[in-house]
Amino acid sequence: MTTGSSSSDHPPLSRHDRPSRLPELCLLERLIRRGAPALRSRVLARVEDKEGWLPVYGLELGSLNPTAPVLLLCGGVHGIERIGTQLLLAQLDTLLQRLRWDLSLQQLLQQVRIVLCPLLNPVGMVRGWRCNGNGVDLMRNAPVTAEQPGPWPVSGHRLGRWLPWYRGEPGQPMETEAQALCTLVEEQLATAPFTLALDCHSGFGLRDRVWFPYSGRRQLLEHAAELHALCRLFERSHPHHPYLFEPQHHHYRTHGDLWDHLYQRHRQHQDSVFLPLTLEMGSWLWVKKNLRQVTSYTGLFNPLVPHRHQRTLRRHQLLLDFLLRAVNAWQHWLPTEAHRRHHQRRAERRWGTP
Ligand SMILES: [Zn+2]
Repeated sequence: MTTGSSSSDHPPLSRHDRPSRLPELCLLERLIRRGAPALRSRVLARVEDKEGWLPVYGLELGSLNPTAPVLLLCGGVHGIERIGTQLLLAQLDTLLQRLRWDLSLQQLLQQVRIVLCPLLNPVGMVRGWRCNGNGVDLMRNAPVTAEQPGPWPVSGHRLGRWLPWYRGEPGQPMETEAQALCTLVEEQLATAPFTLALDCHSGFGLRDRVWFPYSGRRQLLEHAAELHALCRLFERSHPHHPYLFEPQHHHYRTHGDLWDHLYQRHRQHQDSVFLPLTLEMGSWLWVKKNLRQVTSYTGLFNPLVPHRHQRTLRRHQLLLDFLLRAVNAWQHWLPTEAHRRHHQRRAERRWGTP
């Protein structure tokens, strides 16, 4: 059974024998050591594995000003989707290297804070599971009930931990990892005027998709105008990009989505702008090009051939770099009240009327 604890102390980096079982955590801790003190780290929670406790790290890079705009990057929510964590670690490595010499990046990070939680579910990743150590799907674990959920059981269920997409016991608090992520995000939302989040997953379809709320209902998020302005900015800046931008409910509607939960809570309390995005890397593309991947559970969610793995890490750098620059310049492209109506109409035409 996984239990957890939270800590805001700077951690003594954990030393346990896991390099072969969890190389992503070893790399993450190497980057923490190499990046300090510019890279600030803390243990958000510890979760118990058979061989000891594993840390869930929260990292910060850039501005210490609480009112700075924030780019929030998350990965490893589903333990089997290692590529999401690997993508963020590659990006962090690049940022740390470039910070040594890139004057424009140094200046940018005086204005912006990057907050990372690159490996939310270390026990799931050690075991090669989608769920956490308690058998709970963290992306079905928030206290949000979908309208017209479907299809079952992908939408989330309470039958038992033996079936994937388990939401957890009704009425229980969220799992340690889910709670840690929500606390991390809400700390930032409390003071940041603009927050853009990207949660990295893999495993859906032949295209790379960027999803946004809602997951649990057929409704556009209230910031559809702002989101449309961001999409248009990206599409005009990078017309040959590979992504499909769409609300997640176009494909299926799920209970307990953490980003729906965080977005709805933020909407109730704040006037600032929060745009939570999910990158769904289209893993069927890797499977199609290498059918042997079908025979391995890991292969359904991760590129196994080295050159394809490297290509995947390269492929999304454009998006990550764009998002960082868009956060820095948020006041320059966020639509004014007059332009909001225009973007709202365009968003409704493109993604469906609320
Ligand atoms: Zn996932």
